[in-house]
Amino acid sequence: MRIKFLGTGAAEGIPAINCDCAHCVRARQEGGNLVRARNALIFSLPRYELLIDTPPDIRSLLFKNKVRRIDGIFITHAHHDHSGGLEEFLYWKAEVDLFAEPAVYEALQRENWGDRLPEIAFHCAFHPGMAVRFDGFFFTPFAVCHTVPCFGLVLYEGGRKIVYTSDTSNRFSNYAYCLMKQADLLIISTPRFSPPHDGHITSIEAVELKERVGAKHLILTHFNHHNRPYDELAKWAQEQSGITIAYDGMEILV
Ligand SMILES: [Zn+2]
Ligand SMILES: [Zn+2]
Ligand SMILES: [Zn+2]
Repeated sequence: MRIKFLGTGAAEGIPAINCDCAHCVRARQEGGNLVRARNALIFSLPRYELLIDTPPDIRSLLFKNKVRRIDGIFITHAHHDHSGGLEEFLYWKAEVDLFAEPAVYEALQRENWGDRLPEIAFHCAFHPGMAVRFDGFFFTPFAVCHTVPCFGLVLYEGGRKIVYTSDTSNRFSNYAYCLMKQADLLIISTPRFSPPHDGHITSIEAVELKERVGAKHLILTHFNHHNRPYDELAKWAQEQSGITIAYDGMEILV
């Protein structure tokens, strides 16, 4: 399976607009991996390209990464940095499936697109804990703790188990721990580096989670400008084993 990280920034992206902190100033001056668009990734599965989330940057991210095929979109939650670009798919010249839990779908309708949402994509409702089966793989969504209803997913393909948590606090259900147990890969959103941070799991805590569930590998993503810049994070990750820091455009084979 190929995983492509289109954007790896948190809500404000890096550099954040109008911010003169050292991290944002460096990102503006040096560019490269210091710059992060809002969060989206693509799982290339057997005969199915699954896009996770549609941030406001999605149009330019798809263009930049030459993405010409998307079969389905999994929307983790209705926050702007994860769903604000959904309307771009009005102009996508093919049918697109929209995997969204009913409360998330309702929020998208109410707050953004009303009755036009079915024109944008074909709603495929799911409930946490179910197996959404395809031809040759399946995924199981699970609820995480966030300020609005939010869902991660576990992908099962070719004997491998890959977990994506989306935005979550460092509190998980026993059910989520079961799903994460000995995953081949955990992908976790960690806006900030270390606790305390209300609401979001931090990079340090994600490493503890990897150990706790015995995951083989951990990829951190969804960073904000309060976290360390890419080069410092990459150096920190290198000093440990099985940890990768995502950057915009990063592609891996699992
Ligand atoms: Zn977010
Ligand atoms: Zn800043
Ligand atoms: Zn969020």
